[in-house]
Amino acid sequence: MSYPATGTCQCEQVHYKLRQAPIITVVCHCTDCQKLSAGAFSMTMMVKREDFELVRGELQAFDRTAASGNIARCYFYPTCSNRIYHENPEKPEVIRLKPGTLDDTSIIKPEMHVWTQSAQPWVTLPTDIPCHETQPLMAALTDR
Ligand SMILES: [Zn+2]
Repeated sequence: MSYPATGTCQCEQVHYKLRQAPIITVVCHCTDCQKLSAGAFSMTMMVKREDFELVRGELQAFDRTAASGNIARCYFYPTCSNRIYHENPEKPEVIRLKPGTLDDTSIIKPEMHVWTQSAQPWVTLPTDIPCHETQPLMAALTDR
């Protein structure tokens, strides 16, 4: 569990490197993240763009509007459709990595849960880190 960390897409054609620990790691229970993950929630690591390097593979992107009104540009690998990261084109200095794609997922340490009002009822929320019913202002940076 150390940096630099490496990650791949589901079909392993995309390889990336993450040089430093993230600024923050957030678990989001919003309904968009349930769609995105095809699961109960998704995780986001806010990382400095300079700490992220796409080593191999070419990503495609599409734009969607997040709940905050910000544009989320969503990068994925076309063959396996695995989402790798999102960015706000107006704040390209920070990207929002989808850390389930890391090779060593033991380095993922969630520091906040957001949109718990739409969390699946069987999800047990932690009591030792902040949990927000919606999205706190500071986490607007993390929109999916
Ligand atoms: Zn979300």
